[in-house]
Amino acid sequence: MKYVSTRGEAPALDFADVLLRGLAADGGLYVPEEWPRWEPSQFASLAGLPYADAARRVMLPFVDGAIEEERLAEILDGAYETFHHPAIAPLVQLDPGLFVLELFHGPTLAFKDVAMQVLGRLMDHVLAERGRRATIVGATSGDTGGAAIEAFRGSERVDIFILYPHGRVSDVQRRQMTTPEEANVHAIAIDGNFDDCQTIVKGLFADHAFRERTALSAVNSINWARILAQVVYYVTSAVALGAPHRPVSFSVPTGNFGDVFAGYVAHRMGLPTDRLVVATNVNDILVRALDEGRYEVRGVVATQSPSMDIQISSNFERLLFEASGRDHAFIRQAMSSLKQSGAFTIGEAVLGRIGEKFSAVRVDEQACADTMARLHREAGYLPDPHTAIGIAAGAEAVASSEAPMVALATAHPAKFPDAVENATGVRPALPVWATDLAEKPERFEPMPADQRAVADHILSHARSTAFEVS
Ligand SMILES: *Cc1c(COP(=O)(O)O)cnc(C)c1O
Repeated sequence: MKYVSTRGEAPALDFADVLLRGLAADGGLYVPEEWPRWEPSQFASLAGLPYADAARRVMLPFVDGAIEEERLAEILDGAYETFHHPAIAPLVQLDPGLFVLELFHGPTLAFKDVAMQVLGRLMDHVLAERGRRATIVGATSGDTGGAAIEAFRGSERVDIFILYPHGRVSDVQRRQMTTPEEANVHAIAIDGNFDDCQTIVKGLFADHAFRERTALSAVNSINWARILAQVVYYVTSAVALGAPHRPVSFSVPTGNFGDVFAGYVAHRMGLPTDRLVVATNVNDILVRALDEGRYEVRGVVATQSPSMDIQISSNFERLLFEASGRDHAFIRQAMSSLKQSGAFTIGEAVLGRIGEKFSAVRVDEQACADTMARLHREAGYLPDPHTAIGIAAGAEAVASSEAPMVALATAHPAKFPDAVENATGVRPALPVWATDLAEKPERFEPMPADQRAVADHILSHARSTAFEVS
């Protein structure tokens, strides 16, 4: 299978190249040239399979020979062995029609692990086959950095450098980045805020010579392989609740639109999906876009659900591409308008097609806290603030449908203990296996918010540069 760019001006690539490449050369995002279509019996045949086996079957048509099936199976087995729940993504029932899909049983207690653990192993495999190395550099405001480090620690082929704002991430988040002992892991504490970190990373990617020299790569949420790995749990949870014989709805705490787009991919494969609910906090660019047809950037407000505090939602481009009938010119024009004036308009026809499957619900800070309190009181369940937003949005949508609603639980409550305690009076504990995090020694490099200094540090530590004659 080939993948094409949403902007139509980059070469079509296979799965392995798309994996290494991330963003297309024309600035667009890769999507499959055609959507594989499954028969109902193929969905039904996943019932009762171990998660890694189901994942192999769902991913296979998209990988399509770029990686041998046996290798893929090993990669998936290894990825999900790092999880601390035998079901990997268990469903919990809260109400007759409302279920929570717990995606936070991975090593960093957030759903990013589900895809990142696969991505790390896939990249190692493809780089080894090609005899190449890569350097990953990323900026994090908290969650993604830990998940990426956890996925690449000990990698033979990849060195990972994560920049985070010194003193501005939570204790758990910092320790997840600073305690891995492997020599290929480099946590860099920048004297500045998250924007400073991101500016440095963007500057490094814009430096062509540096990019070549370090074989620079990113593992951000636009990487197609991450989205693909997330399609799996939509399928397994729907099958557990009676698909393909009855449709299921999903409510998804949304930031960059990667996760909910994975739900759309499952729908395009033929999974009977009733509604896909885009749940946001007060940073509601997606709700405004779906309600009013105007995608317009505004300032970011800090909330209890920081992983959804976004200004723009990169993967939305993929949905616009599909809903516009794959209109490259429309995407190019919308994205250039976004760059120039911070906004673009979505026409009636495209908006109508999005509305056939998607609803968008904004949940404010009070409603988020009320939902945490109510679930704790009524069901003895402690959701984290991101999960609470998905549940609140899903409950609003479920009233009008027969289909069971699956709300995605994207983080463990102990990752956001203050918000959970404020709302419920209960301070959630870390799982037993994670409590030694506090005792391990930490290792990080404090650095000024200076691109040159960071570049020099990376050049002197990345193995990808070691073979070059300079
Ligand atoms: C990243 C993240 C999200 C948002 O997911 P997207 O794929 O960016 O929409 C939601 N909740 C948590 C806890 C996250 O870490």
